[in-house]
Amino acid sequence: MTIHQRHRGSAATPWSPTDLAVCSLLVAVGISMGFVGWYDAAGKLVESEQVAPLNFAGAGTLVAGAGLVLWFLRGRRAIRHRRVGLVNHRRGLLRPTVVESISAGGTLEPRSRSAVLVSGDGLGRYHRADCPLAAGRNWRSAPRAQFEQAGRRPCGVCRP
Ligand SMILES: [Zn+2]
Repeated sequence: MTIHQRHRGSAATPWSPTDLAVCSLLVAVGISMGFVGWYDAAGKLVESEQVAPLNFAGAGTLVAGAGLVLWFLRGRRAIRHRRVGLVNHRRGLLRPTVVESISAGGTLEPRSRSAVLVSGDGLGRYHRADCPLAAGRNWRSAPRAQFEQAGRRPCGVCRP
């Protein structure tokens, strides 16, 4: 792994030094062509003699535009690669049942199956005890009817 790859992995910038060099060169050349064409055309009195320098300046605009488009596309591609890497990394961290659920067309949310319902003081929703939103909390359990009487609604993640 090169220093550059490690740098890109930390996501400080999606562009490589090569991208920077190529895109900067295109933009610099394009701007220079525009300036040279403009300067050349400004020195000519006859309209027909201004056409060639103005065409040159127009070509410079296209070259600079190509550099900017390339800059955008390279960044977009790098971000897409990073996103795919993050998704694959995340899938590797998930439990097998969740990965199976994803590959079967399910969602990323883990399946909660506990029949025990819990909720915390002052909350508007109740959860299954194994809901990820209830993990690590010391919420009290109660029957569903008691939560509903208190005006609490079911959690949208664990769907009790
Ligand atoms: Zn929940």
